Amino acid sequence: MDGKSVELAGVTMVFDGFTAVHPTDLHIPAGEFHSILGPSGCGKTTLLRILSGFQRPSAGHVLIGGEAVDHLPANRRPTAMIFQSLALFPRMSVRENVAFGLEARGISRRERSARADELLALVALEAHADKRPDQLSGGQRQRVAVARALAVEPAVLCLDEPLSALDLKLRQHMRTELRALQKRTGVTFIYITHDQGEALTMSDRISVMNKGRIEQVGTPTAVYDAPATPFVAGFVGEQNVFTGKVTSVEKEFARIDGPGGTFTGRRTPDVALGDQAVLMVRPERTGLVDDERNGVNRLAAQVEGRELEGPYLNLVTRDATGRRIVLHLANDGSVHPATGATVIGFRPEDAIVMPVTDGRAAAVAEH
Ligand code: ATP
Repeated sequence: MDGKSVELAGVTMVFDGFTAVHPTDLHIPAGEFHSILGPSGCGKTTLLRILSGFQRPSAGHVLIGGEAVDHLPANRRPTAMIFQSLALFPRMSVRENVAFGLEARGISRRERSARADELLALVALEAHADKRPDQLSGGQRQRVAVARALAVEPAVLCLDEPLSALDLKLRQHMRTELRALQKRTGVTFIYITHDQGEALTMSDRISVMNKGRIEQVGTPTAVYDAPATPFVAGFVGEQNVFTGKVTSVEKEFARIDGPGGTFTGRRTPDVALGDQAVLMVRPERTGLVDDERNGVNRLAAQVEGRELEGPYLNLVTRDATGRRIVLHLANDGSVHPATGATVIGFRPEDAIVMPVTDGRAAAVAEH
């Protein structure tokens, strides 16, 4: 199997005056595991349906392997799609399910069966070929759907939230399996999810989508550590957020003065003196410090509670302005206060300052 590149050029979707997808350009190289990550209703599924030919865009072009496919219906494109529901045929055996797409291609029964067995071996289900889907576990059914989609040798496999029906443990296991399968086959995977953990663990690159626009395309590390917009910063992982006015801009740092105090962080290039801005710092980069008077980025807070997350402990605190600040601490046996006054601090290089424009203010308020 060979993956192909995908290119969206100015792809736009307007439904009855509502713009579900604003003009979008995106290039996905052949053989990439690419996730499209965003909240419900942001336009992910619409983008995928346009790409695979189930939906005609209002404007723009789709190229697969460098060739325009705008005129081709879904079944003539070199793509396959796995839906959340999986849509397996309940009365057919696992082998018949996998072989199904091959019949329409005029492949002989014997060859279909051999090819299905090959694919079932690829997803480690050869022992289950004669069972019906309802005799399998959720994860096994998931793998049947993948084998069936791969049977037609797509160059691009589109997956629309395929793991959302599985329980947490299985979902985590299937992440690793899908990722390994993608690398083994070389097929380009385009994976839709609203789960940032999935996107971060599986992808070569992620497109983060909000209200019909891709706000950032980058590796998991880039998207997490260097978010391009407040929305990306807040949607991918958690943030402690402070607001204020920019009172100093120096090289790559900026300082804000706000109701919660005076704080310094790394800045995006568009920060200017006098701007309204947000400063964000991750809970795992926010810590307890000994003394309020020493150092920058210190603030007094009250501990309100602790949440245990296995290897981690979330310490939930509130500052004098009523702002909730969460600390993500290692559960390493250290004794942390359960209530009472404490001092919180973070390093300027661990925080990011971005100006708040109209659209951005709304994005921050939602997260
Ligand atoms: P979810 O994760 O909930 O599936 P999504 O990000 O995949 O969300 P889409 O299904 O692409 O979002 O929908 C984007 C927007 O377009 C939504 O506001 C939706 O209501 C709207 N929309 C989608 N399909 C149609 C349609 N056929 N007619 C009108 N509006 C539509």
